[in-house]
Amino acid sequence: MSDCIFCKIAEGEIPTAKVYEDDQIVCFHDADPQAPVHVLIIPKKHIPSMDDLTEEDATLVGHIMVKIKDIARDLGLTNGYRVVNNCGEDGFQTVKHLHFHILGKRKMTWPPG
Ligand code: 5GP
Ligand code: ZN
Repeated sequence: MSDCIFCKIAEGEIPTAKVYEDDQIVCFHDADPQAPVHVLIIPKKHIPSMDDLTEEDATLVGHIMVKIKDIARDLGLTNGYRVVNNCGEDGFQTVKHLHFHILGKRKMTWPPG
């Protein structure tokens, strides 16, 4: 999607240091980290939110879930981490492109806002 910031990151239009990339997904550091380690993992496909997932996306979302643990390990999060998805207005979602936060090495910021 042309006006989506995460699509632009996925397509390399906005240069971003990527932690992981393959043909389906990209992982990169959050611009405003809420924990010592804070990365975002997104599908390259523009899906606005969890609410927009269909059965067709099940393999893609499964792939994201499997990669989260590999990325967490590669980032040194061997003692655990949080995975967060914000969905919609009341879920505090600000960027309308599906993403999962991976937060690690503590500093809990919950509840939000
Ligand atoms: P949400 O509240 O939608 O779940 O989280 C969106 C996240 O994206 C926020 O943590 C915010 O800091 C991050 N973010 C927004 N714009 C950019 C950007 O242009 N680059 C990066 N790396 N992160 C961004
Ligand atoms: Zn997008």
